[in-house]
Amino acid sequence: MTENVPPVETVSRRNCPVCHSGAYTSLPAYSKDGWHIVQCLTCKMVYLENPPAQNLLKTDFAWEGRKDEERRRRRAGRSFYYFFSDRLKRLRGMLRRFNKQPKEIRYIVKYSPGRNVLDVGCGDGNIISQLPDTYVTYGIEPSPQMAEVANDTFSRHGGLCIHDVAVGGFAQINKTRFDFILMRSFLEHDSEAMVTLQAAHSVLSEQGGVLIKVPNFACWNALLRKKNWPGMRYPDHVNYFTPSTLKAILSRTGFSRVYMPLSWRLPSSDNLWVVAYR
Ligand SMILES: [Zn+2]
Repeated sequence: MTENVPPVETVSRRNCPVCHSGAYTSLPAYSKDGWHIVQCLTCKMVYLENPPAQNLLKTDFAWEGRKDEERRRRRAGRSFYYFFSDRLKRLRGMLRRFNKQPKEIRYIVKYSPGRNVLDVGCGDGNIISQLPDTYVTYGIEPSPQMAEVANDTFSRHGGLCIHDVAVGGFAQINKTRFDFILMRSFLEHDSEAMVTLQAAHSVLSEQGGVLIKVPNFACWNALLRKKNWPGMRYPDHVNYFTPSTLKAILSRTGFSRVYMPLSWRLPSSDNLWVVAYR
């Protein structure tokens, strides 16, 4: 265990990302390789207490490379599990093709009050570029290669993609007002999640909202598999939201209407969705 303790210069210690309390209880069953998972005693938020310094996310911990590395590592030890998991994915893919559009697109079309849509951590832009051409799409992306690809796509319809981490990106486009901001598999990576949500709130149009998808720490799979749950990623995931802690951080950052129907927070699903309006 001790040989993998993260070097001191790459980590920063932090208080609860939701209520800022420094009082926590350690969760050893969820901690691994020196990465310290804790639960806030005040608001019950679960988080990585010693995350990599945020500026490293743009380079050393850039997600694109680490995702593949993590996938290979995980597959090596669990071929039996992945036999079924791969088939399930293929079935989901078939259903998706039948449904035509990914959930993100259906939810944006249904819940966005307007056509200016921003994707935070947009990758190469492949998700929101599936929106109808009447939408103007924007992105913020820390990987320079992906940001460039996304920018080429988005600029065809008057949008753009900024190469930056979230907060820096919001500062660069704070003159634009967005009707909807997508944070898909993003907020669990962000050790300054509250600052990011406040920045998102400040660039929303009057009726605007955010659509968020994060791993659901309250799901059955997480309870059963603990540190082996695929939602536990060391040190990439620094926030482990449940339906109630996700609602709490949204209301603390000024979102007034939070929409999270039961079908978006089922304990049988590894993921959690929410729409919140300013
Ligand atoms: Zn707290």
